[in-house]
Amino acid sequence: MKLPGTLSFRLMLWYTTAFVLFLVLSLITAYFSMNSVLNYRIDEDLHEDILEFRELYTSEGLRRVQTEIQREIKSGNADNIFFRLLTLDGKVIFSSDLSSWKNLTSNEQPFISASTLPALETISLESKESSTRIIYDVIGPDIILHIGESVEEKEELMAIFFTLFITLFVVALPAASFIGWLMSHKAVRGIKEISQIAANIQGGHLDQRVIVSQHGDEIKQLADTFNAMLDRIKDLVIELQEMTDNIAHDLRSPLARIRALSEGVLCSDKSLGDESRAAISSTIEESDHLLQMINATLDIADARAGLADGSNTPVNISQLAVDACELFEALAEQKHVKLRCIIDIDCIVQGNNHYLQRMYANLLDNAIKYTPENGEVNVSLTCNDNSTIIVVEDTGIGIPKSDLDKIFDRFFRSDQSRSLQGCGMGLSFVQAVVEGHGGNIHVDSTLGRGSSFTINLPSIRVS
Ligand code: ADP
Repeated sequence: MKLPGTLSFRLMLWYTTAFVLFLVLSLITAYFSMNSVLNYRIDEDLHEDILEFRELYTSEGLRRVQTEIQREIKSGNADNIFFRLLTLDGKVIFSSDLSSWKNLTSNEQPFISASTLPALETISLESKESSTRIIYDVIGPDIILHIGESVEEKEELMAIFFTLFITLFVVALPAASFIGWLMSHKAVRGIKEISQIAANIQGGHLDQRVIVSQHGDEIKQLADTFNAMLDRIKDLVIELQEMTDNIAHDLRSPLARIRALSEGVLCSDKSLGDESRAAISSTIEESDHLLQMINATLDIADARAGLADGSNTPVNISQLAVDACELFEALAEQKHVKLRCIIDIDCIVQGNNHYLQRMYANLLDNAIKYTPENGEVNVSLTCNDNSTIIVVEDTGIGIPKSDLDKIFDRFFRSDQSRSLQGCGMGLSFVQAVVEGHGGNIHVDSTLGRGSSFTINLPSIRVS
């Protein structure tokens, strides 16, 4: 199984791992601390017992110690505690009931000198499920008291803690993963926004900017840098466009002169040989092609400037559509393409009549040009108070998916359309006009099946 490699997933994983490590270490520390505290308490109890019996032995003698042991055993539980009195050479002189402490003496140490006492030890007896903590210590000049206490209660307590810690761990693990997921998503939200904007910009929306609200300083810095970079790119694109427009403008007159001169020579000089005539003809042809491209570049610049200068009027876009359909009817018929137009009447947009006319012309020209014989081209126009939707669709050659976001670029032509006439400027012009009118254009296409261009323009209400 391949784990996702996203930053948010890795952040979540790090957070969860760190949390789990911290939790496990804390629980292990708590468990062992608790264990040693309980052991310490048991040892303290044993030491206290030794002290009490030592005092009793000193003040009241051996008999009194034996009576006290019997009393303690009676009031307590013979299964949990035992007492033995031994001489220094290991002879047992008194013992409480040892019936539930079988084999106790089998692991009695070969006897212990008074200098090594007190001796504390934990032993396991076959007759007992739990361990036993024992102490040997002198309570008088020649008497050793041997006490043993079952640690069953402590072990039960530790088992409860163990279950509690495991439950805590099992509950905390998904909770930590969830919190880690929330935190990582919050942390990378800003980055996601920036990458979304970057993706939009790739699609040509240079006006978008990242708006950072409550993200950390680093994200804000990144967003500011990103926005500054976009401002710069936009300026460069505009500069580049202006430069192209200026070059086109400067080239148009000399190129027109070259064309006129060539035409003049071709028509007036009858002495020219066939080779020279062919060379001049191809000069005129190439000049025409270049002039067409230059004019298209300047048209796009004009469309932008013309729309920006505020010389717009209400335009009956329905009538323009009807006129365009009538105009292209002959061309469609000539190509045996069926042209169908379904137009809502009296849809009005605020704009430039001339540019909108040419927008239709470019779209219809393309649709008929790129649709083979017996195909269909459908034009529809619908409107409401807010928007006008124009759709031009055809059953033509279609556009490859990889070219869809390039067809609005200047001079771009798809490979499969190169055999047909054109210079790759028509759709750039259409886009400039549509956007200049505050609208947008969208294309859907399937290679070999056809294309559909949808334009959305803001309508104006007619009272
Ligand atoms: P051109 O002069 O090449 O038609 P355009 O800017 O009008 O230039 O179109 C750019 C490219 O988009 C065309 O070369 C063609 O590859 C593709 N295209 C445009 N309209 C259509 C269409 N209706 N069907 C298929 N391809 C189209």
